[in-house]
Amino acid sequence: MASTSTQDRTPTALITGAAHGIGKAIALRLASDGFNIAINDIPSKEELLNEVAKEIRDRYGKKTAVVPCDVSEEGPVKEMIAKTAEVLGGLDVMVANAGICITKPILQTEVSDWNKIMDVNAKSVFLCYKYAAEQMIKQGVGGRIIGASSVAGKRGTCAFPIYCASKFAVRGLTQAAAEEWGPHGITVNAYAPGYVETPLTYSCLIPGVAPNPGDFLKLGTTASVLGRVGTPDDIASMVAYLASKGAGFVTGQTLSINGGTFYD
Ligand code: NAD
Repeated sequence: MASTSTQDRTPTALITGAAHGIGKAIALRLASDGFNIAINDIPSKEELLNEVAKEIRDRYGKKTAVVPCDVSEEGPVKEMIAKTAEVLGGLDVMVANAGICITKPILQTEVSDWNKIMDVNAKSVFLCYKYAAEQMIKQGVGGRIIGASSVAGKRGTCAFPIYCASKFAVRGLTQAAAEEWGPHGITVNAYAPGYVETPLTYSCLIPGVAPNPGDFLKLGTTASVLGRVGTPDDIASMVAYLASKGAGFVTGQTLSINGGTFYD
């Protein structure tokens, strides 16, 4: 990574929501690309995180830190980033990947639903961006900040309106943060997956459209011009690019990776 080329230590990446799905694939991919890895998820998934950490050490020989917490809470996010920097020697790549989905129409959405989705999908990204940037600015060698948006952050749909709002928020924040921290050599980008096969999409039920687990992914297969849904590794490749030296002139972007389900 260009931004860490002036330092001696192995660059470090922190990935949230990494117990399984896209976050786990990103953690393994960045480890294979040479990063030491810190992984986060909610505290109840600590055992799964320990298994991912072991896989990283066994397969790639990289150092790991397991930093579970609820990333929608400010204090725990500050501690997560401080612990990552303390255990692994710094923070060079922040991937704010954790997210949840809700498929209620607006007329059936309660304020509590709105708050929950916005807390996990948008506020957590704000907190991870803010405290990661603070750490990177202190280190003084730039960095890479990357957040999870979605195809639903580029085009609103009545299938999951509040999820769309939260993913549009990530796009806007990403553009603003890129402008604010560009002078510090920090790039800020987001990835916008289409349909990807993970536990999240299996649990995505839409009354009348995708009523059973797996139906949602069938919609994705039909919608893609490639005739398939994405894999977590497809998304990890995009994130690995954004974290790489070659992406040093890419910032403020929300890059689509959706098998042609939607063109920007
Ligand atoms: P996933 O459910 O497999 O993984 C998400 C992880 O985030 C889970 O392990 C979950 O426990 C964790 N998480 C949820 N709330 C958290 C919190 N408060 N603190 C810490 N961790 C928390 O889902 P995924 O499909 O791998 O999704 C990863 C990201 O990609 C999400 O932001 C999602 O919105 C986004 N995305 C996914 C798809 C898709 O089709 N799978 C499409 C577009 C965007």
